[in-house]
Amino acid sequence: MKCDPNLFRAAPPSLAVKPRLIRQLFLPPLIIALMIGLGYVGFWISEFYGIRTLSETGERQLELHARTVESEISKYTYLPSLLELETSVSKLLADPNFETRSTVNDYLEGLNRRSRSRAIYVMDTTGRVLATSNWRDADSYLGEDLSFRAYFQNAVRGQPGRFYGIGSTNGEPGYYLAHGLEEHGKIIGVAVVKVRLEALEERWQRARLEAFVSDENGIIILSSDPARRLKAVRPLSDDTKERLARSLQYYWATLNELEPLARERLSEGTEKLTFPANTEVVADEKEVSFLAQTRPLNDTPWNFTLLTPLNDLRRAAINQGILVAVAFALVAFLLIAWNERRKVIATRLAAREALQEANNQLERRIAERTTDLRASNERLKSQIRERRQAEETLRRAQDELVQAGKLAAIGQMSTSIAHELNQPLAALRTLSGNTVRFLERGALDTASANLKTINELIDRMGRITASLRSFARRGDDQGEANLGKAVDATFQILGSRLETLPLTVHRHFSSAQLQIDQTRLEQILVNLIGNALDAMQAQPAPELWLEGDIVEGKYRLQVRDNGHGIDPEARKHLFEPFFTTKPGEQGLGLGLTLSASLAAATGGNLAVEHPASGGTAFVLSLPLASPQQVEST
Ligand code: ADP
Repeated sequence: MKCDPNLFRAAPPSLAVKPRLIRQLFLPPLIIALMIGLGYVGFWISEFYGIRTLSETGERQLELHARTVESEISKYTYLPSLLELETSVSKLLADPNFETRSTVNDYLEGLNRRSRSRAIYVMDTTGRVLATSNWRDADSYLGEDLSFRAYFQNAVRGQPGRFYGIGSTNGEPGYYLAHGLEEHGKIIGVAVVKVRLEALEERWQRARLEAFVSDENGIIILSSDPARRLKAVRPLSDDTKERLARSLQYYWATLNELEPLARERLSEGTEKLTFPANTEVVADEKEVSFLAQTRPLNDTPWNFTLLTPLNDLRRAAINQGILVAVAFALVAFLLIAWNERRKVIATRLAAREALQEANNQLERRIAERTTDLRASNERLKSQIRERRQAEETLRRAQDELVQAGKLAAIGQMSTSIAHELNQPLAALRTLSGNTVRFLERGALDTASANLKTINELIDRMGRITASLRSFARRGDDQGEANLGKAVDATFQILGSRLETLPLTVHRHFSSAQLQIDQTRLEQILVNLIGNALDAMQAQPAPELWLEGDIVEGKYRLQVRDNGHGIDPEARKHLFEPFFTTKPGEQGLGLGLTLSASLAAATGGNLAVEHPASGGTAFVLSLPLASPQQVEST
């Protein structure tokens, strides 16, 4: 099979290699860049929506906790104004003596205990403390001048005094609610309740809530994280710092700013703050981010800020980002794999199509060749038919020739036969006449001997006619012949000619069974021996050698004479039909031709040799009927 080379020819190297090289060089970095980019986008979107969701839930939390703070603060609002109703307080303010002071002190002590506030005290309009619930304590406010306190200054002017500050006496922080005590429309003193709001901080800590409250100065006064307490949520100018330091509102505390690592404003009242991590709480993180949501507290100039940790959200967003990147990588891998598979399938399909095409071409060629072969087969068949016809014609011609040869031989022999038969007939006539006479004389013995001779003569005549008949009959190719019998029959046929020659016959052959018709073998031998007799006519001591042996599975009989031999010119034409050197009617020139043809028809052959000692030797090779049965004679 020869395929079209164009079908499988590879693309030129420059075209086949370049795109693959470009893909191999640029595809991995591109995929990695896309992974990082998409991962970041995934992270960003996740964080953005996470913060939005958190800020929505944070709004509700903010509202809830801010109201808790408001209610905590407002539950004491009414308390200073209650003292207005107390007559002992009015008396004390009108006439501050020991007795009224003691009475009011006791009253305030009891009231403070019941309301669970930190301290309750009453000041005159100059800001001096006239009575206090903590009158028993060593650091009692009694007699102190607190006129510098802003809450006093507000209250004495009839405004509600709300104030967060650190106590100047004991340095304790507290929330001060002041109320101007009126009598007949005139402010006669100021009642103050100091409340501690640390309970709120403890509650936040227990609930693990991150929150703080900043006052009107932006200073954190309450914080779930003590580290943030008394830090300023916004930058303080030097003037403000000085003013606050002078007011002793925060006692002697240094007012630093709350310094987050990062601050990002997301919307009104919402910020993203990042602080250094408190390593006691979170060991594995360096910084903590919060969503800071701030809302003003009602009835106060304060703000409540709720801090929602963003680290979990950030971690989730990072995970989402990684997930997106991995998903992209997976999709990219699947796409590449799919593309590769598609290419492989396309290549296979192309190869299959090419193969199919080559196959089709091959089948077309086979069909063409088959047609050619069929035609030449037909031609061969017709040639074989013609050959067979020619062979048949030739065979028929050969048969005709054999027949013609036989007839010719009969013609030749007829004279000798006639002579052969005339002699016994003449003898028979004489013997039968004599026998009649011997019978008449009663010489029975002589008559009987004559009759015996007559019988022998009749037998001889019968043999002569039988051999003539068998010679003339058209024999078939099949059959077996006995060489000894054939030689005997030949000598009988040629008997009359042998009588005229002083011939010496040398018989050196076995009585082999040969694969040839008996008559045909006799016919060949009659020809060969007859020719030898002709050649030895002038020979004073004619000799004939019949020598046989087995060569290569065939019986080889040599018929040699010491006749005149054959001259070189005649040797070339020996086996040609009608070649003869014999004069007149004596030769037909068919004997050797027919003999060679009969030998060849049985698978044997006839050849001639010219011995150096003189004479001629014909070598007849014939197949053995059964090579084992070889008897020597
Ligand atoms: P024919 O005997 O009728 O001539 P053959 O074919 O038998 O035809 O022989 C052809 C010729 O071969 C003979 O004429 C003779 O010259 C030659 N020839 C055949 N046998 C011998 C032989 N034994 N010795 C010499 N010559 C021979």
